[in-house]
Amino acid sequence: MLVIGEATQLREMISYWRKEGDSIGLVPTMGFLHEGHLSLVSAARKQNKKVIVSIFVNPLQFGPNEDFDTYPRNAERDVELLDKAGCDVIFMPDARTFYGNSFQSHVEVENLSKILIGEFRPGHFRGVTTVCAKLFNIVMPDRVYFGQKDFQQVAVIRQMVHDLNFPLEINMLPIVREPSGLAMSSRNALLTSEQKQQATALSAAVKTGNETFENGVHDARLIEAAARKVIEQHAPGFTIAYVVVVDAKTLSLVLDKAKDSDVLLVEAYADKVRLYDNIVLSN
Ligand code: AMP
Repeated sequence: MLVIGEATQLREMISYWRKEGDSIGLVPTMGFLHEGHLSLVSAARKQNKKVIVSIFVNPLQFGPNEDFDTYPRNAERDVELLDKAGCDVIFMPDARTFYGNSFQSHVEVENLSKILIGEFRPGHFRGVTTVCAKLFNIVMPDRVYFGQKDFQQVAVIRQMVHDLNFPLEINMLPIVREPSGLAMSSRNALLTSEQKQQATALSAAVKTGNETFENGVHDARLIEAAARKVIEQHAPGFTIAYVVVVDAKTLSLVLDKAKDSDVLLVEAYADKVRLYDNIVLSN
């Protein structure tokens, strides 16, 4: 396994692979890897001849008062885990050389980026789509892999890939959870043990929401209310950002009755740590 920091060096490697006819899978990450990330690597491993994992805490997607500086990092451990997982190349660029001094171009998915998480984190998705567009142009992967945990992120990137004709396939993999139900996240490391215990309320909430749907209650507002109650009761220290049933593609609020494939999205935060969970409703 190679660790590469320069885009030009990575391009050379990739053009060699391309001449050999090798397919390429890309897994973009911000590092501090856990089983959720490794499930994406394992899916990429099965479907492609070569697997590239990028590790880059992207400054563009953090707001001025967000946790860029405290975002957990452990490059050495990440390299070990990826070596074991059968990754071919880790792309670990330095932010200054990656963007360069004169950087001034951005990619923005206008509407999907402004709602839900975008309402609380203005500019966040603009940073995500810009870094993904750069990574897609550098790597030119056949397939890219994202986690359902960041459901809105996948919807935003799908829209960008469609709108701008990136010739690649997007794969969304299921949420990997701790035994407690808590969705694995690098940011869980920033929680106190009490917050981590309360955070399990998010997964319990989406589970309850889906059970409500399964039991024949299809009114979207009642599904949301059932889920919200679980967070209010079990995570009194958390602030709820939203609990909503939305259309899976447009992420617009389901106004009346929910149907299979609609998504229950929840976001709550403890101090400054933002936590997400979701479930695709199914009977
Ligand atoms: P991050 O390093 O948090 O930017 O995440 C990199 C990728 O891993 C994103 O596509 C995430 O959605 C995905 N991911 C993060 N946590 C999980 C999880 N618990 N299960 C599955 N995928 C995840």
